[in-house]
Amino acid sequence: MDINKVGVLGAGTMGAGIAQVGIEAGFPVVLIDIESTVLAKAVKGLDKAWQKAVDKGKLTEEGKHKWQSLLTTSGDLKDFADCDVVIEAIVENMDIKKKVFQQLDDICPAHTILASNTSALSITEIASSTKRADKIVGMHFFNPVPVMKLVEVIPGAETTDEAAAAVMELCFKIKKEPVKAKEVPGFIVNRLLVPYLNEAAFAYQEGVASAEEIDKAMKLGANMPIGPLALCDMVGIDVLLSVCEYYWREFGDSKYRPSLALKSKCRAGHLGIKTGKGFYDYTK
Ligand code: NAD
Repeated sequence: MDINKVGVLGAGTMGAGIAQVGIEAGFPVVLIDIESTVLAKAVKGLDKAWQKAVDKGKLTEEGKHKWQSLLTTSGDLKDFADCDVVIEAIVENMDIKKKVFQQLDDICPAHTILASNTSALSITEIASSTKRADKIVGMHFFNPVPVMKLVEVIPGAETTDEAAAAVMELCFKIKKEPVKAKEVPGFIVNRLLVPYLNEAAFAYQEGVASAEEIDKAMKLGANMPIGPLALCDMVGIDVLLSVCEYYWREFGDSKYRPSLALKSKCRAGHLGIKTGKGFYDYTK
C-alpha cells in the first residue's frame, strides 16, 4: 500500500515527536489537536529542534524550510480527509479514543489505516467503534520519539496482514525498527520493564539496600544505562502503580501486585521528578 500523506492526532509529547519523524522522512504531515496552544507549542518545538540542527551544520536553511512546509496544523478532524494513515496520540482513555476513531472512520477514505499509539488499551476494542476493524493497528512509539528506535506494531483481532505490513513498512520509512507484538497488556517492552521496576521497589521496601545502592548495582552489574528506581522517578510512580494494578486485574496473577513502596510514595504525593520527590529528592 502506498502511503503519501500522514495524519497525526494529538500534538502533545508523543504526537509532536511522531509528526517530527514523519516530516524528517519526507512525508507531508497534518497535525491536529483540540488545543490551539498545544499545537502552537508543538510547532515552536519543531522549529527549535530544526534550528538547532541548522546551527550544528546538520541541516541547511533550505532543508529546514522544506520540513516546515511539510507540516499543516489544524483543529478540525476533516483535514485528515486525504491522509493514507492517521496515527492517534491523544489521552489514554478508551471512551474518548473510541469516540474519536468513530469520527475518523466517517471522515477518512476507505483505504486509510487508523493507528493508535496507546500504551496499553485494546486495539480490538478501539477498532470495534469503527466499520474498518481490518485497518486498525497499534503503533506504539517510545518517548522521546525522535530518539527511540523502537515501534511495537500491534494487530487487533480483525486487523489484516496487509494493514500490519503497511504499518511495518511505514516504520522503516520513518527510520524506526518495528517489532510485531500480540495484543496483551504491556505488549513486550512494558510487560518486561514494569515488573522489573516493581521488583526494584519491593527490594527497596524490604531494605535489601538503599535506592542509590540498588541503582548502582543494576548499572554496574547488569549494564543498565539507568538504575530502576531513578527510572521509576522518571516515568512517574503514579503511572507505574496504575500499570501494575492494570496488569494484576487483566492477568489475574499475583506476581503483578504492586509493591507497598510504590503505594506509599503515591500516598505521600512523591511521584518522582515531576513532583520533586520520589525514590530520590530532586528539590536539593
Ligand atoms: P499528552 O497529554 O502529552 O498529549 C495528548 C494530546 O491529545 C493533548 O495535547 C490533548 O490536547 C490532545 N487531545 C486530547 N483529546 C483530544 C481529541 N479528542 N482530539 C484531538 N486532540 C486531543 O499525551 P502523550 O504523553 O503524548 O500520550 C498520548 C498517547 O500516547 C497516550 O495514549 C499514551 O498512553 C501514549 N504513549 C505515551 C508515552 C509517553 O511516554 N508519554 C509513550 C508511549 C505511548
